[in-house]
Amino acid sequence: MINLQSDELLETTVGQFMIDADKVAHVQVGNNLEHALLVLTKTGYTAIPVLDASFRLHGLIGTNMIMDKIFGLERIEFEKLDQLHVEEVMLTDIPRLKTNDPILKGFGLVINHAFVCVENEDQVFEGIFTRRVALKQLNKHLRTLNK
Ligand code: AMP
Repeated sequence: MINLQSDELLETTVGQFMIDADKVAHVQVGNNLEHALLVLTKTGYTAIPVLDASFRLHGLIGTNMIMDKIFGLERIEFEKLDQLHVEEVMLTDIPRLKTNDPILKGFGLVINHAFVCVENEDQVFEGIFTRRVALKQLNKHLRTLNK
């Protein structure tokens, strides 16, 4: 049985391994779905955060949510893309982390989510904690223990 007890890992926080806000692609409340689809397609990400002008986190928007909204009974209603706004489609019930949360809390959340948004006490967006980063840190930790 691998012993995962290590002060080093337990003392690590989410903030130490998040991708900072300035490197995260996002859209703003008020942007239309055409813009959101453009950002998602150009970046290649399946979902990105939705922020307001003060950088507060409102939710997430993904390609699947947009496509779902414009699927008509007989055809894809592309004309809706510039009429609808991200806040009409985004997911608001999302997990959230704080920078000083223990990394173990982040590990738990990325089991079911490819990434989790990190915010401060005022809901201002600070960055994201991704499954890729979590696995990289776990892998590094396990290899160190195995030496
Ligand atoms: P990854 O673990 O790097 O494959 O990322 C998982 C998901 O996190 C991606 O599909 C995106 O939804 C989101 N993501 C990762 N990096 C970024 C970024 N720089 N900007 C926006 N979203 C990101």
